[in-house]
Amino acid sequence: MEGEDGRLCDARYVRALLARHGFHFSRARGQNFLTADWVPQSMVRCAGLDGTQNVFEVGPGLGALTRPLARAARRVVTVEVDVSLRPVLAETLAGLGNVDVLWADVLTLDLPALVATYFAGRRPVVCANLPYAVTTPVLARLLGSGLFEALTVMVQKEVAQRLCAAPGTSAYGAFSVYVGVHARPAIAFDVPPDAFLPRPRVTSSVVHMVCQKRPLRHETLFFRLVRAAFGQRRKTLLNALAPALPFPKDALSELIASCGLAPSARGETLGIPEFEALSDAAAAQTGESGFGGANA
Ligand code: SAM
Repeated sequence: MEGEDGRLCDARYVRALLARHGFHFSRARGQNFLTADWVPQSMVRCAGLDGTQNVFEVGPGLGALTRPLARAARRVVTVEVDVSLRPVLAETLAGLGNVDVLWADVLTLDLPALVATYFAGRRPVVCANLPYAVTTPVLARLLGSGLFEALTVMVQKEVAQRLCAAPGTSAYGAFSVYVGVHARPAIAFDVPPDAFLPRPRVTSSVVHMVCQKRPLRHETLFFRLVRAAFGQRRKTLLNALAPALPFPKDALSELIASCGLAPSARGETLGIPEFEALSDAAAAQTGESGFGGANA
C-alpha cells in the first residue's frame, strides 16, 4: 500500500499523528486502530467491492479502512461518534471526493433517512471494524433494518463464532438465531492482536453476511420463544417455554410433541425451522389474538 493508505498502517506514523493532534485512545469506544495493511485490503476483497457499490462504514477511527474502501467503492458514508477525531480525519481523508463523514452515534442514527439521502434508497453494503462494546446492538440494528445487502464486519473472534454457530454447539444462542433469520453468515478470516494499536487482548475475526430475511409468520412470538429457550439454557424445552406460553404443562407438552420435538429436549438444540414450527403451533392453538396481534 502506498501514500496515506500505507502510512495509516504504520504504527510509528500513527503514534506521531495522534500525538500531533493530542488524541487519547478511548477503551470504552473500542478504539483499537488497524495498523496492518493486509487487513483493510482483505476486508475490501471479502466485501467484493468492484467500484460500483455504496458502502456504509461504522467507526472510521483514523481512516485506515475508510481510504481503501473509498478507492474500491462508488461512495462511502462513515459514521464516527468521537468528535475529537474530526481534525485527524480531516487530514487523513483529505482529497477523497467520494467520502462523507457523519458525526453521530450509529445506535441512534436514522438509518432509513441515511440510505435515502446518501444512497438514493439503493441498498448499500456495510464494511466496518466494529467497536467491540456495542457489536451486538449495532449488528441487530443493521440486520433488523433490512436496508443493507451484505455486511463485512470485524468483531471479537468469540462473537464471530456466536454469530455463525450451529444448533447444539456451545456458541449457539439467541443472537445466532436472530442472525440466521436475517442473513447467511460465514467467518472469513482471523486477525491477531498485533494488527492493532493499541493491541486488544483478544483475537478478532472478519465475518461476511449476505442479508436475506427469512419471512416468519409470527415473528414476535417466534423471538419470544427463542428468548425463553435460551434464557434458561439448562432447562428442558417444556420448563423453559412454560413462562412464555399461556398453556397448562400437559397442553404445552402435547404442543411440543406435535412439532416432532421431545419436551425433554433442550432449547439450544433447536434450529430456526423448529422454533418456527413451535410458534406456528402455539399461535394456531390460542388464536393469534391471545398473543397480541397477527404478527405476535
Ligand atoms: N475503522 C478504524 C480502524 O479499523 O482502524 C477504527 C475502528 S475502532 C475498532 C472503532 C471505531 O468506532 C472508533 O473510531 C470509535 O470511536 C468508533 N465508535 C465507537 N462507538 C461508536 C458509535 N456508537 N457510533 C459510531 N462510531 C463509534
